[in-house]
Formats: sequence, C-alpha cells, structure tokens
Amino acid sequence: MQDEGRFDVIVVGAGPIGAATARHLSERGASVLVVGPDEPSGFADHDGVWAGYYDQGRLAHVLEVPLMTSMLAMRSIRRFPDLQERTGVEFAIPRQSLTVMPDDSEGGGLADWFNRALLAGNAADLNVAVEQFSAEELRREYPDLGFAPGHVGIVQRDAFIVNPRGLVQAELAAAVAQGAVLVRDVVDSVERSPQGVRVASRGGETWRAGKVVVATGAATNVGGLLSRPLDMRTYGATVVLVEVPDPSEFDIPAMMYMKASGEEVTFGGIVMSPLQYPDGRWYLKCSGRSLLDNPLDSAEAIARWVRTGGRQEDIRESLDLLAELLPGKTLGPAHTRPCMVCETPTALPYIDWADEHTIVAVEGERGAMAADEIGRLAAGLVIDGVWTDGIPHAAFQARWAETEVSPPLHSVATA
Ligand SMILES: Cc1cc2nc3c(=O)[nH]c(=O)nc-3n(C[C@H](O)[C@H](O)[C@H](O)COP(=O)(O)OP(=O)(O)OC[C@H]3O[C@@H](n4cnc5c(N)ncnc54)[C@H](O)[C@@H]3O)c2cc1C
Repeated sequence: MQDEGRFDVIVVGAGPIGAATARHLSERGASVLVVGPDEPSGFADHDGVWAGYYDQGRLAHVLEVPLMTSMLAMRSIRRFPDLQERTGVEFAIPRQSLTVMPDDSEGGGLADWFNRALLAGNAADLNVAVEQFSAEELRREYPDLGFAPGHVGIVQRDAFIVNPRGLVQAELAAAVAQGAVLVRDVVDSVERSPQGVRVASRGGETWRAGKVVVATGAATNVGGLLSRPLDMRTYGATVVLVEVPDPSEFDIPAMMYMKASGEEVTFGGIVMSPLQYPDGRWYLKCSGRSLLDNPLDSAEAIARWVRTGGRQEDIRESLDLLAELLPGKTLGPAHTRPCMVCETPTALPYIDWADEHTIVAVEGERGAMAADEIGRLAAGLVIDGVWTDGIPHAAFQARWAETEVSPPLHSVATA
C-alpha cells in the first residue's frame, strides 16, 4: 500500500455533488483530492457502486416543491453560463419545462410535485415567470400533444435540460484546472484520528486530509464511510429509453406529467424531450411511478438491482403513455436502464457535519439541478468551519438513523 500524500480535503464520490464540492473547495484555495470511479461501461454483470447521474438529461427549473429546492436550483442555474464558458463543456440546453397534472383548482392535488398552486407560488417567490394553462389552454398551446382530459399545466419557458454527465465533466474540469487531484477509484474506508482522516481506496492507495466530504449519493448508507447511518431511503429507479428515428419530429417540452383518473394515478414522472445518447441514437426518456418502488438497503441489493437493468414492466406503461401523448408518431424500440435515487425525511438535502472531520452532502431526487449550489454550501461549511449562508443551516441538518451502519461495499465483491 502506497501512502500518497496529504490534502486539506478529500471528497469521496465524483458525481454531480462531489464534483461540484471539489470545484468550490479548490476555488476557495483548498488542496483537494476527489476520489470516485468513472461510469462503468455496462450493467449486466455489474458489481459495486452505481450512480444517479448516468444519463443525458435532467430537468433544471424552479417548478419544484419545496421552495428550497427551487431556490437551490436557481442559484445553481445562474452559474451554468460561467461554468460552461470556463470549461468549454456545454451541459445545459435551454428548453421549456412543462408540468401537467389533473385539475387541482379545487385545492389539494395528488402530490406536492404536481400541486400547481404550490409550483406557481414558488416561482412567484423567486420572481421567475411561469404561465398556467387550463385544460382548454393546454390543448391550444400544445396542439400536437394528447393530454388526458381535464389535465392542466404550468410552464417555465426559460428552463434547461442539464446533461448530468456533462455537468460532472465540467465541474471536475474546473476543479482540476484549479489544482484539484482526481483519482478514479472506490473508497473502501475512512479512518479518523485527532489529526484528521486517512482514506483508503480499493486500488490500494491511501491519503490523509484534515477533512473528508462524503458525497456518495444514494449509496451513502451502504458504503461504510460514515460512523453512523443517515436517516434516508435508497431506491432502484427505472429509466425507459424509447428510440425516435427523427428527433426533429418531436419538438416537445421537457415534462413532469401526472396522469390520473379520479384517485387512480396511471403515470407520474418525467417525459424528457429527445436527447442524443452516447450510442449516437436519439431517445425519449420516461421515468414513471415505480421511482420509489424498489427499496435497497445494502450494497449487495444495489448491485443486484443494477444487474436487472431496471423494471421491465415500466416499458409497457411508458409506451401506453407516449401513444396517447404523441398521437400519430412512430416510436422505435424501447429499453430500460437502472438508476438510483434516495430521499430524506426532510425532503431537502443533507449538508452537515457527520463528525468533527467529516461532512456529508446528499440530495437524491433533484441533485442534478441543485448540485452546484449544494457543492458550494458544502465547501463553505468545510472551509469556514461554520455555516455562513443566508439560508439557515437547520434546513440542511442531517438526521441520523437508529440502526447499525451497513457493511462496506467491498463485501459485495467477496460475497
Ligand atoms: C430517473 C431519475 C430521474 C431524475 N431526474 C432528475 C431531474 O430531472 N433533475 C434533477 O436535478 N435530478 C434528477 N434526478 C436525481 C439526480 O440524478 C441525483 O440527485 C444526482 O445524481 C445526485 O448526485 P450525487 O452526486 O449526490 O449522487 P450520484 O449521482 O449517485 O453520484 C455519486 C457518486 O459517488 C460514487 N461513489 C459511491 N460510493 C463511492 C465510494 N465508496 N467511493 C468512491 N465513490 C463512490 C458513485 O460511483 C457516483 O459516481 C433523477 C434521478 C433519477 C434516478
């Protein structure tokens, strides 16, 4: 085992939040090591860690609930132009963001993400222009789209689709340009002492630092890197990719769509306008109701979920929805991909001390659009030692579970 040296801060996890944290730390003059594996080439025989960001498109808008999520997204989005210009990585494309839901004008709504009054109120609080449509106005505004009867909408016209792979590439490029060191490996252990931390990787390297930031996404509780588990739940989500032969025939907004008949919800999730994927083909992406159906509570369960490639039944559900939504359009073959999300009981990110040397930064469901700001706040907490932002720290304080921490991920490889 080599002892590779000492840094001010080691960031574990090179996803959207870890990469953003590393770039903001290095921007503030810290010597930073960021350790995390690159995206695996496939999932059929997968073992070990996975991520929530292995995709081409994530919504980035203020049509969110709670208001705090919209605010974190807005702060991040404002920095996109600068990050793109500095790194030459174009990761954000302007696109309308439309949320469609059953008419909730009587009050209520089936879920907060689809409560039009809350969405409109949050946008108004942030002074971001949105437009609301009655069922009739929705039909007139989007004549080529077939929404379920009685469904209404709200649109933010100046929203973005963020390529999360591109976002990570840009954040890491900016961090490295500012002196951060990037190592592609999995961290197996973090040892604490009064002087700081000693971090050991699967590849056999070790490093020392004063502080460590754990930004390992939905896998955070199963990595064995925290001395106690967070109160959060991890799920295996499914992405359905439906090939489109000619993307110019599908000039549609990025959508959140809750389709319901009375109390019965038949689809609730994302329908993303066509994007080009690494295989060169164009796909519409759907991610529906099964988002939180597959709880995963161990490293082994995560690896097993990833190997399934996602829930096959979601293909039928997505194709049924698209047949109605895109009448007369020809769709190509569909396939699934596995993804991971996590949720906290506060519905907000955790950005907090886990112990005197460790900070945790986790956001499981909106962590692409908000990543840059979460990384900035986490970096501020590390460098300043205290919370200095105008948003009270109480909003992001971690909650801790009562149970024992799961065994480390490397136990998967040996299981
Ligand atoms: C279907 C779906 C749709 C979504 N839609 C949106 C959306 O529209 N907008 C939005 O903002 N968000 C969306 N999200 C959520 C968003 O993708 C996540 O919140 C985001 O990826 C979280 O970033 P992260 O860096 O915390 O975690 P991740 O993306 O999971 O990255 C964590 C990284 O840590 C690494 N890691 C884990 N363990 C270790 C270890 N022991 N050592 C080293 N590295 C480790 C992993 O390999 C990974 O690279 C969606 C998620 C899914 C699944």
